[in-house]
Amino acid sequence: MKLQKNYKFWFCTGSQDLYGDECLKNVAEHSRIIVEQLNKSGVLPFEVVLKPTLITNEVIRKTFNEANIDEECAGVIVWCHTFSPAKSWILGLQEYRKPLLHLHTQFNEEIPYDTIDMDFMNENQSAHGDREWGHMVTRMGIERKVVVGHWTSKEVQEKIASWMRTAIGIVESSHVRVMRVADNMRNVAVTEGDKVEAQLKFGWEVDAYPVNEIAEAVAAVSESDTNALVDEYYDKYEILLEGRDADEFKKHVAVQAQIEIGFERFLEEKNYQAIVTHFGDLGALKQLPGLAIQRLMEKGYGFGAEGDWKVAAMVRVMKLMTAGMKDAKGTSMLEDYTYNLVPGKEGILQAHMLEICPTIADGPISIKCQPLSMGDREDPARLVFTAKEGTGIATSLIDLGDRFRLLINTVECKKTEKPMPKLPVATAFWTPQPNLTVGAEAWILAGGAHHTAFTYDLTAEQMGDWAAAMGIEAVYIDNNTNIRDFKKDLMLGNVVFGK
Ligand code: MN
Repeated sequence: MKLQKNYKFWFCTGSQDLYGDECLKNVAEHSRIIVEQLNKSGVLPFEVVLKPTLITNEVIRKTFNEANIDEECAGVIVWCHTFSPAKSWILGLQEYRKPLLHLHTQFNEEIPYDTIDMDFMNENQSAHGDREWGHMVTRMGIERKVVVGHWTSKEVQEKIASWMRTAIGIVESSHVRVMRVADNMRNVAVTEGDKVEAQLKFGWEVDAYPVNEIAEAVAAVSESDTNALVDEYYDKYEILLEGRDADEFKKHVAVQAQIEIGFERFLEEKNYQAIVTHFGDLGALKQLPGLAIQRLMEKGYGFGAEGDWKVAAMVRVMKLMTAGMKDAKGTSMLEDYTYNLVPGKEGILQAHMLEICPTIADGPISIKCQPLSMGDREDPARLVFTAKEGTGIATSLIDLGDRFRLLINTVECKKTEKPMPKLPVATAFWTPQPNLTVGAEAWILAGGAHHTAFTYDLTAEQMGDWAAAMGIEAVYIDNNTNIRDFKKDLMLGNVVFGK
């Protein structure tokens, strides 16, 4: 998927007029070179735009307000080449509302031992100036990322690149609109939540629609449009009849093609980027949307099942954060389904009734048509595959009544030991870090859900920084987790975030 806006990041160098014109000329020239080289590095996913050196209260305030207004500006990168008295930043920072990165770098990498004099020291004092600046940002309680190191280092550039994707998640979050078709699955707790608070915290708009309103949009899709999409499916995917009649099978597939087109038109017309369905409330729809939802997720829509609007929004946010990423391995809703508890082979089989995003698929994707075993509709067509191997993160956003908490578990995705020929759904299989026992115990202690928003393409750090920017609690489960300390993390969260 592609982002709709051509996002850029502003590079603002801090200084003051105390050092004379020649020094300021050098500061501007050095900043120009840094920005040029960062853009040339090929590491950053977005362009960096150089802004005039910030030297006065007025210029700083004006620049930050322009950044707020500029729709393509996704964040500001600040570096103090010289000393820049931080009181002159107060008003600008107070009014600034977008992501902020403090790049704590220096133009030269090495101290020029043979030639260094006081002029050089005064011109190259970010070790000094960046501390003054950082003090003010901390005093003001502003969430920001600090990246330390020489600007030519690949590691530094990769940290900036990683933060840029977090920043996209932050600025795009308030543009996520979730269409909730039907209500929450009856009696289920963890998929519920305070939608007003979610809009306050994340900017998400979550609206309910009667299922038959979207079913009408599906019914309005012409036979020729439907058949054209069915042809596309038959070209792209393997057809696994498994003894079913070929014509009857195709009719079932066509129902999903009609749903895909109808849903997408309805979502586009009403400007929603995420959708929630419920297998128990399908109105006039002939099948539970399976293949159709899988294809919509692949196109970048967020999805949550059984009324789970939090997962739908999270999947959308994470797809935005990974948009345009080279060699992306995929992002999907998943559900912890069943365990393998054999010692040394422990893991959790991830699946859902149908709705797993094909972006996480490894190898060929097939269409199957099987009974749902729940609900009262005809056998839905679905895409079947197994997921890629590798490290990923499973996230669960829960509503604890007094606050939201984001759980972030780093997981190792593997192949199952054997194929599962009788299981007619897409699957992933992972062992949570640090191991199944501690990972699952921590997850349950923290109140994590059975539905997750999963990705191979973001890190726990990125999602934790996103949560911090939203002003919510994040808890991490990874190779550093032990239960005694984890309980202290939860206690600390209660003190800091509990009401
Ligand atoms: Mn479910």
